[in-house]
Amino acid sequence: MRKNKRVLSVGLAAMLGVCAAGCAISNGDAPKDPFVPETVGSYEAEEAAFTGNVAAVTNPGLEGFSGTGYVEGFRDDEDTCTFLVSIAEDGFYDLNFVSASNGGEKHNYVAVDGEQMGTVFIEETGFTDSVLNRVYLAAGEHEISLKKYWGYISLDRLEILTSEPIDEAIYQVTAGLSNPNASEETKRLYSYLLDIYGEKFLSGQNCDTGQYGKEFQVIKEATGKTPAVLGLDFIEYTPSRVENGSSSKAVEYAINFWECGGIVTFCWHWNAPSKYLTGQWYSGFYKEYTNIDLAKIMNGEDQEGYELLLADIDAIAVQLQRLEDAGVPILWRPLHEAGGGWFWWGASGPEAYKQLYILMHDKLTNEYGLDNLIWIWNGQDAEWYPGDEYVDIISEDIYPGERVYTSQAASYFNAATNCSTEYKMVYMSENGCLFDPDLALRDGAMWGMWCTWGGEFVAQNGAFFNLSEQYTEESMMKHVYEHEAVITLDDLPDFSTYEIRKELK
Ligand code: CA
Repeated sequence: MRKNKRVLSVGLAAMLGVCAAGCAISNGDAPKDPFVPETVGSYEAEEAAFTGNVAAVTNPGLEGFSGTGYVEGFRDDEDTCTFLVSIAEDGFYDLNFVSASNGGEKHNYVAVDGEQMGTVFIEETGFTDSVLNRVYLAAGEHEISLKKYWGYISLDRLEILTSEPIDEAIYQVTAGLSNPNASEETKRLYSYLLDIYGEKFLSGQNCDTGQYGKEFQVIKEATGKTPAVLGLDFIEYTPSRVENGSSSKAVEYAINFWECGGIVTFCWHWNAPSKYLTGQWYSGFYKEYTNIDLAKIMNGEDQEGYELLLADIDAIAVQLQRLEDAGVPILWRPLHEAGGGWFWWGASGPEAYKQLYILMHDKLTNEYGLDNLIWIWNGQDAEWYPGDEYVDIISEDIYPGERVYTSQAASYFNAATNCSTEYKMVYMSENGCLFDPDLALRDGAMWGMWCTWGGEFVAQNGAFFNLSEQYTEESMMKHVYEHEAVITLDDLPDFSTYEIRKELK
């Protein structure tokens, strides 16, 4: 319904995919009584506290406000309007910032007692509801802030309403695999993922150098635990990188970790074919370093480009085949963060992207007969959803900043659960800091997996194997990895004998 466009910094180690979905498709078939929210508070912005340029408008030019006016001045980063609110009962509340855009799509930050909870969106130029759903507020007083992100809005008031309870059915996922011919190992692994979903969180960590790399080692040293999931990347197998001397051992690392009882997930930073590279070759997955036009390729105006993309898929299929031959099922997350638009596969809009996603699914599944893939769709925007028949798991990549341990339920989990028409599992396929499992359990944000990105998100820069506490403090890392709802490597079952669920047989 609404897409979030966010501009983010470039850098391989900083795939800052802070992208949410604004999803509108409703789930479930059973009719139920419509939920009627109750308004528990309404606070005029012109009576709130201001920071920076924010101030009440003296000659209101807009109509339709409540109270005596509204506030403007969200121009600089510290510009904030803060409401002091009083809540009678612990619970989940929808925060509705009635506001108007000063022109075009605007996103702004919401914080509760200084903790960032997500963003709200407004596009209409007249006063309109702009809601952040399901924010937990304990009884008592709270400071709720709207802070400049894109800025340039007029803010009339904050309404606080009771939230619709979560439908427990979202955790009872029974969807089959998108490849009905999936291998036994793949069905066993997927059965396990379904069995624990809604109750447990799989711990995951990206580590370019495999399970003995620095990210895994610093986690082991800090917590005594090893993540259950190893995150890897096919990036260096891409032909336009191999032509420049790249090589990779990611497949060997994957086989090795699976043989040690772990689970493997792969993404693919797909460097565009050399013909289209316009800047530094090693950044050729970012749209600004390539002039590839996916829309032209997918609509038949660039046949050579189509052939080049097929050749690249062929090259990755060779690696996936090696994994299948070794009996390794893969949580496969191609074409990630598409809705963000910073990668070339997301730069031509949702239609071209969906065509490419479906083409890849068809080729790998039907032409190559790769039966070891569990397909994670990471488009992060419902408009980019290719259809239930091509997706096994829905995921979000979330980088909320440093030491933000909230569950990310309000902006992300709730939106992701609504992307599909049948219930699918929802994963956090990349993250910067860890979330606190206690908060996720409280909020019903049952991310089936997280997978922290590598580098500075866990380890200090440089060659040394030292924990970095920039994003997650050591105490929180211990709390997370020791949590009873968190699955680490030593908690995983023997997948060679794990029972396949009846709906997959
Ligand atoms: Ca007002």
